[in-house]
Amino acid sequence: MYYLAITYDICEHNNLVEEMNEYRLEPGVDFEQQLIKLAKKDIAPLIKVYQSITSDFKEVTLYKEYTFKDYECKCHREKG
Ligand SMILES: [Zn+2]
Repeated sequence: MYYLAITYDICEHNNLVEEMNEYRLEPGVDFEQQLIKLAKKDIAPLIKVYQSITSDFKEVTLYKEYTFKDYECKCHREKG
């Protein structure tokens, strides 16, 4: 099985859900550890992990969603 992580930028106030980057996850390395690094790099509040039987990711299914509260949009705070 092959795994692809996609980082998302989200702003609920502007109804924005924007795909940022795609990363292939390294097999045999703890997924959460890899995802924590990717979330930090992209400042992504959401990462979706997709799985595929083939390495070309022609057919993917959603494996799991990970949310990162630290990177949620801070719009509401800025407006005070
Ligand atoms: Zn926002």
